[in-house]
Amino acid sequence: MNATPVMDRLVGRSMKGSVPLGVHFDVTYRCNERCVHCYLDHEDYGELETPEVKNILTQLAAAGTLMLTFSGGEIFLRKDFFELLEFARSLHFDITLKSNALMITAERAVRLRELGVRQIQISIYSAEPEVHDAITKVRGSFARSLQAIRFLKTQGLHVKIACPLMKQNLSGLRRLRILADELSVPYVIDMTVTPKLDGDTSILAMRNSADELVDVIQDASLRGQATPDDAAESVVGSAVSSGIESDAYDGIPCSAGHNTCYISPYGEVYPCVQMPIPAGNLRRESFEQIWHRSPQFARVRAIREDQLPVCAACNLRKYCERCPGLAHMEGGDLTGAYDRACELAEMKARVAGVANPLSAWHAQSRGKALAVRASGRLVQISQHL
Ligand code: SF4
Ligand code: SF4
Repeated sequence: MNATPVMDRLVGRSMKGSVPLGVHFDVTYRCNERCVHCYLDHEDYGELETPEVKNILTQLAAAGTLMLTFSGGEIFLRKDFFELLEFARSLHFDITLKSNALMITAERAVRLRELGVRQIQISIYSAEPEVHDAITKVRGSFARSLQAIRFLKTQGLHVKIACPLMKQNLSGLRRLRILADELSVPYVIDMTVTPKLDGDTSILAMRNSADELVDVIQDASLRGQATPDDAAESVVGSAVSSGIESDAYDGIPCSAGHNTCYISPYGEVYPCVQMPIPAGNLRRESFEQIWHRSPQFARVRAIREDQLPVCAACNLRKYCERCPGLAHMEGGDLTGAYDRACELAEMKARVAGVANPLSAWHAQSRGKALAVRASGRLVQISQHL
């Protein structure tokens, strides 16, 4: 989606001035659901305390952050969450919340409206209660989350359904779209199950293959609806951040580390939640020091798309939503290509009518495999001579 002119100017200025315009802050990794595809460890290893969070928020405001996403884990498990929210609003952040909504009551919905939260994104995995509950592993969670959506809508709040697609819920996507229409809320899907933050890739088995996703790729209406809120939200860095078009991002892989970053419940700062490269810890250093002086941020900012070793020469770039964070987590190289992006790009190109699309990465791997096979045969032949 194209940025509005105001958003475009804002993004441009933040890029020029190296301002952390959007920050994604996970205030806890604890959760009251146990979703099968979740990448987090839900133990509490010493979350930031209330004064520490407030101190960080004050530093972010001073650094120029405008858009703040509070996420987790489940944010409402923090007993001080409303205190933090109130403090954040006193600093005039534009706030998005990500929640499973199990703890949102009618009274809390009123409070969220009073505090002027811009948007609440709620995870709903299916229109079928048993499928949703099997994914969250909490019986009755579907009914409770839906009830919360109604409380929030009654207050006139902007609610969005977020649905990560996996093997368990792909076939019900059309019904989810109907449910979202009935609730009068937009929804967004995410086709990428990501590795766990500790590097464990076992949950990737739940991903749908590119072939299984062909209907979703062919039918844009299944992928959800962009809303004016998305233009603002997408600058804060997410798996769908590639959805925003702004000239300010020309030539770089994405906003991560340029005008957006991520903060963990333990005070670690990463370029993005999908790019777990610790650049510093706010318990030991100031945000300013980490943002402006860490070598990790400097390295991420130095990457230019036309210097990517494989991808720069790829014919499928316009179909590709390569995420440098996933390139790092799945392929071990921030500047590299990785299978998942290539498979989806090839499928998108095929759907768009490109005959036999082949990514540069797959072409290179096939070339190497052929060379290995050919050298093996040469060895066999030479042994017979
Ligand atoms: S690292 Fe990936 S998820 Fe994060 S902003 Fe960049 S493209 Fe989006
Ligand atoms: S399709 Fe693969 S090789 Fe091509 S740009 Fe995307 S990640 Fe790189």
